[in-house]
Amino acid sequence: MTASAGAQLGLWPDSGTTGMAWQVRTSARARRLSARVFPGGRVEIVVPPGTRPVSVQHFVTRHRSWIDRKVAEHRALGADDGEALPEAIHLRATGERWQLRCVDAPGAPRLLADTGCLLLRGELSRTALARHALQRWLLRTAHQVLVPRLAATAADCGLAYSRAQVRRQRTRWGSCSRRGTISLNACLVFQSPEVLRYLLVHELAHTRHMDHSSRFWALVAALEPDWRALDRELGRGWHHVPAWVLR
Ligand SMILES: [Zn+2]
Repeated sequence: MTASAGAQLGLWPDSGTTGMAWQVRTSARARRLSARVFPGGRVEIVVPPGTRPVSVQHFVTRHRSWIDRKVAEHRALGADDGEALPEAIHLRATGERWQLRCVDAPGAPRLLADTGCLLLRGELSRTALARHALQRWLLRTAHQVLVPRLAATAADCGLAYSRAQVRRQRTRWGSCSRRGTISLNACLVFQSPEVLRYLLVHELAHTRHMDHSSRFWALVAALEPDWRALDRELGRGWHHVPAWVLR
């Protein structure tokens, strides 16, 4: 059993055939339901507080053809976006900026990291391999950034967890298992330090309360008074994640 921050996951009424999913985000500022489609084809339904699941279901059914069309457009665009290698990588969580230098040379692309500079050397036409090399570097870097940050935040808050793991994920920023294992999304390194800290506090609070009950939110609020604004910002956090990361 896990609890995730930021969003719930919904399935299309006929998910058996399409296997598509959407995320529901509750926004205190939303007056009515709206749908957003992100690069890569991720669908988000923004709803006012207190919206019933059946209303979300009806909304999605009513706007299904529009959403399908947008998803197809974004998938096509996303394919090009993620194909290109970045010129620079900005890790907002640490403020670091890495320049990427590419050198076309025989052999499979390999990545060398030096202070502030990544050197990609190899046959650059093999873009999938080049991207995988970057993705592996990102996962290592995210591990180095996030695991110590979690330990420090836990000590700060006086909360204990048993294990930390970092993965590249498309749908969730973090989760906490009943055994106290906290999983963090490597994409968190693209979020601001404040938003990252909020997510860490959120998952650590789940070591006490495995749900999103009022007791859970009271604990979060005690540890991070600005949690509402930060939770909204985290909900929009996918905008900061470059397309190549999740390809
Ligand atoms: Zn949660």
